[in-house]
Amino acid sequence: MTDAASLPGQPRGGVLSGQGTARATCVLAPNPSPMTLDGTNTWIVAEPDSDRAVVIDPGPLDDGHLREVVARVEASGRRVGLTLLTHGHPDHAEGAARFAELTGTAVRALDPALRLGDEGLGAGDVIGTGGLELRVVPTPGHTADSLSFHLPADGAVLTGDTVLGRGTTVVAHPDGRLGDYLDSLRRLRSLTVDDGVSTVLPGHGPVLDDAQGAVEFYLAHRANRLAQVETAVENGYRTASEVVAHVYADVDRSLWPAAELSVRAQLEYLGEHGLV
Ligand SMILES: [Zn+2]
Repeated sequence: MTDAASLPGQPRGGVLSGQGTARATCVLAPNPSPMTLDGTNTWIVAEPDSDRAVVIDPGPLDDGHLREVVARVEASGRRVGLTLLTHGHPDHAEGAARFAELTGTAVRALDPALRLGDEGLGAGDVIGTGGLELRVVPTPGHTADSLSFHLPADGAVLTGDTVLGRGTTVVAHPDGRLGDYLDSLRRLRSLTVDDGVSTVLPGHGPVLDDAQGAVEFYLAHRANRLAQVETAVENGYRTASEVVAHVYADVDRSLWPAAELSVRAQLEYLGEHGLV
């Protein structure tokens, strides 16, 4: 789910299927929309010499797409060993049960309701399927159950909807909370500063080769929006819809319902911090 402002210098249009890093390959799902950009990025991640792959976010319940993901894994001489979810939004997770059926794999996610199999997923977990090293990084804020996956061997992080390849994301209030989201962005920034992460593999939009720049842009964007919302409230705009019409006046109206979720999250944050 996107919020409007575009990342400076990012290309528009679809560029995604086949993109990635040495270990991660994108298969683009055919579900483009204002909220999903070019569609959902399903990621296949595998060690070069391994016969097993991990699939992150099978995507919507679209049999053609799910079968395409399986075919791409098999074409590389592998089979799917495990399915992971970055979060439970349907454009990422709706196809997971069917994908698990097609591949005979377990589904691991933070939210127990999304899991298939015995194992959960959370802070500190390291996925080692097929010799891979994928570290689970909790990044709540877009939703409460949002996770990112750090792929140290490629200096990359798979961010789901926490950081997108283009534009900015929605803090999906009330499940998503702005304070959590800012903490998550700082956690991702520390991966870029301290842990050698330079590449963002997002849940929508193109791969980003300046991970630190992208995270800094997101932090600056959130600070700007928060200041705009605070000013709007001081100027007498009270309800979330009033604030959206004022602050997001230059944004396509099809995105206003999503913007309203982010504004609710911002109003909550300002209230909690005694700022309005
Ligand atoms: Zn989402």
